[in-house]
Amino acid sequence: EQPDSEYHQISAKPSQKLLLRWMRANPLLFKEKMLSACNLPYTRKEIVEESTASKITSRKKFFSSNMSLSYDEPIEMLGSALQYMYSADGKTYLDCVNNIPHVGHCHPKVVEAGQKQMARLNTNSRYVYDSLNEYSKKLLSSFPDSLSKIFFVNSGSAATDLAVRLAKKHTGRDGFQVLEHAYHGNTSTAIALSPYKFDGKGGGGKGDGIQVLGLKAYGLGIKTPDSRLPRCNRGIPPAAFIAESVPGCAGQVLLDKEQMQDRVRWIRKHGGLYIADEVQTGFARVGKYFWGFELYDVVPDIVILGKPIANGHPMGAVVCSNEVAKSFETGMEFFSSFGGNPVSCEIAKTVLEVIEDEGLQANALEVGDFLLAELKSIKSPGILEVRGTGLFIGIEFVKNQKAEEPDPETASAIVAEMKNRGFLLSTDGPYENVIKFKPPMCFSKENAKELIKELTQILLTSRQTDN
Ligand code: PMP
Repeated sequence: EQPDSEYHQISAKPSQKLLLRWMRANPLLFKEKMLSACNLPYTRKEIVEESTASKITSRKKFFSSNMSLSYDEPIEMLGSALQYMYSADGKTYLDCVNNIPHVGHCHPKVVEAGQKQMARLNTNSRYVYDSLNEYSKKLLSSFPDSLSKIFFVNSGSAATDLAVRLAKKHTGRDGFQVLEHAYHGNTSTAIALSPYKFDGKGGGGKGDGIQVLGLKAYGLGIKTPDSRLPRCNRGIPPAAFIAESVPGCAGQVLLDKEQMQDRVRWIRKHGGLYIADEVQTGFARVGKYFWGFELYDVVPDIVILGKPIANGHPMGAVVCSNEVAKSFETGMEFFSSFGGNPVSCEIAKTVLEVIEDEGLQANALEVGDFLLAELKSIKSPGILEVRGTGLFIGIEFVKNQKAEEPDPETASAIVAEMKNRGFLLSTDGPYENVIKFKPPMCFSKENAKELIKELTQILLTSRQTDN
């Protein structure tokens, strides 16, 4: 409560250190042991495995089978703190893959901001309240000057949907250029822009007016002179080119700067817009910059925001230029019941403050650089490439370096073994052969060292077995 009081901090420091150690160990187990030592009642489930199994059975009754669970042996989670998660069977996991709790699971300042505002006032953007303006001003100040208008919604998908409406209205066209394996959300509109879905299992294929640009050699496809660049809809150029700033579902692919600049130049020359999807990469995750599109020195016309924006509280936003916003002023009201409500704004404002106060952009850069270098130094014939930036990294596995035959089996076996050792990771990419790393931004160098140690050990053991 008084972080600047030197007097209090003398005795508080060691206790903070201890709290952090408990967080790494397991605060739930600790509490249990303390209660038990004091002969006080505690609620330890006796046969946790059975009860988790029966919960999975119930879940299957309530939901359709396309709602998946992570891991062959799913984890029942009871709690979390910053980069750690605690399961019902008393295990502690280091979260190396969830970029939604951006500043850390259950970050106390974020939780407090939500609790306080929820108890004070929650309403909608048709009323005047300070947090809407305060947050918008703070968020917009992180963008280039040309991006000066904002709309609030409740998810990345809703933001994609709105971005598409804006682009269509502004250009009077309805075609879109998308990147191969891209994912932009779960609404009908977003699925239509997501080859990851429409070209994936159960997908219905590409719709009218959608043009898919190749991701060859982890860049933006083969360079084609302007005149030969394909157009949508019988010669009418597309409304927009949309791209994740570092495509995640495609396997953490850094785009080619020159080709991105070419593509943006081309779309503008033909009267279209550039939409940047920052749902995965925004809010300083890429380390060097606050926004992923800055990696390529390009400025979008529209930006889609979600996931990390409010640390897990459901929120999304669309940021755009004044001109794009003006074209949308048709007389039809834009209203989102929950978008930009005071609770969301207070939470999101606190997320921005914590990123600043705790130096999380610098941390993403330092820990990311360290991890990239360490991962690259692992000499394993199965690793084709380690790539990424900041705390957004991918490790691609192949069966044979020369043929570059994807190896999803090894990637998923490593993820499973890392889970056994207390590290949460996942796979992605068109062949599911890329291990994704995108942890909460408080992921420390010590955490990176732990991760490297276990990963190296697994890779070396699997190589011995192969031999
Ligand atoms: N865009 C990207 C790049 C995403 O990764 C996602 C979610 N995985 C979305 C949009 C959609 O966000 P949401 O799930 O919040 O609707």
